[in-house]
Amino acid sequence: MLNDLLDCPFCGGKAKYFNTGKRTTGHGESSDDAGVTCTDCGAGFSIGNYAGYKVQERQQEAKKLWNTRGNLTDNIRLKG
Ligand SMILES: [Zn+2]
Repeated sequence: MLNDLLDCPFCGGKAKYFNTGKRTTGHGESSDDAGVTCTDCGAGFSIGNYAGYKVQERQQEAKKLWNTRGNLTDNIRLKG
């Protein structure tokens, strides 16, 4: 289930999941961001560690957002 990302909507590069692992973000707080990023142009986003979502759940949510944006881009191109 973790190899089903669409290509990058900006440059067509391969996308991949990432997870920063637990790290200190300053002010004594910690985070372990998880998300999707393009391996070519670096476009992407992450979902922080909130509401108790596990890394896998956040990566699944990120996949949904990433793949939906790719479809929207296709739709816009078809209409244009
Ligand atoms: Zn890209």
